[in-house]
Amino acid sequence: MGSDWRGTAGVAGRTDYDGNVLATPPTFQSLAEPIAHDAPHAFVFRGGELLVREADMALPDAAAVKALAIPPAQVFPVGIFEREYCSTAWVAKDAAAPPGHAFRSLRSLFGRFDDRLLSVAGRAFQIVDWARNHRFCGACGKPMAPLAGERAMRCECGHVAYPRIAPAMMVLVKKGEAILLARNVAVAPGGRMSALAGFLEPGESVEDAIHREVHEEVGLFVKDLRYFASQSWPFPGSLMIAFTAEYSGGEIRVDPAEIAEARWFGPGERLPELPPAQSISRALIEANLPPRALRAAG
Ligand SMILES: [Zn+2]
Repeated sequence: MGSDWRGTAGVAGRTDYDGNVLATPPTFQSLAEPIAHDAPHAFVFRGGELLVREADMALPDAAAVKALAIPPAQVFPVGIFEREYCSTAWVAKDAAAPPGHAFRSLRSLFGRFDDRLLSVAGRAFQIVDWARNHRFCGACGKPMAPLAGERAMRCECGHVAYPRIAPAMMVLVKKGEAILLARNVAVAPGGRMSALAGFLEPGESVEDAIHREVHEEVGLFVKDLRYFASQSWPFPGSLMIAFTAEYSGGEIRVDPAEIAEARWFGPGERLPELPPAQSISRALIEANLPPRALRAAG
């Protein structure tokens, strides 16, 4: 991955993320309407865990899915992937896996599950997690039903719920050749440091959120915001939108409720532990490394 992560512009202006395991291939076709199918690629979730065949970490076959006797109201279309129909379903928290199968957390499948299918699994999880949490109307409490032809649930009272995606911004602040990395309060001293990030507030543009979060979290002002890339992050439904920005003023003053430590890393300096390879934060940092930066030990 490294600085090639942004890749080249592909079909219809789409950017292909070679290193982004959660990007579905351009050939994937989303479907809001189910298709009658005996043996779809079935993404069955128990909470945040995906049902896989233990021997080869593959999706379950039709017989294993049938053994779960999943009610049709818990099954939803995802799309067409390499000519195969993909559906997703949720089962109760106490459901047992069929023989030879196990429920595994999606994150634990990174690197162990077909990368392209993992991206579809990420979509499937967001769809099924949303559907499970919208069985009842948030306005009147009555049962909701899928709205034909749309990825939506509707109540007889007229309330319609669409999948919620929470936009979050990420920004790597640069000062000359140095980059600003911060350690969250949840990370132990000496642990992983990353770019700044935060969810958007209602009414904000991504740029508004960047200026606000940078000032709130580290007390700095920034300018020259440049879009880097975005990544769907299904834990749960987030969309991370990454930028770089140039330092324009202020002294580092961290918000102790969120940031334990923030500092500049310049040319030739040893880097701290960085975020995992699958994340957009890692890609953003790798694409903007100071010259001659040294890797953390280990
Ligand atoms: Zn209602």
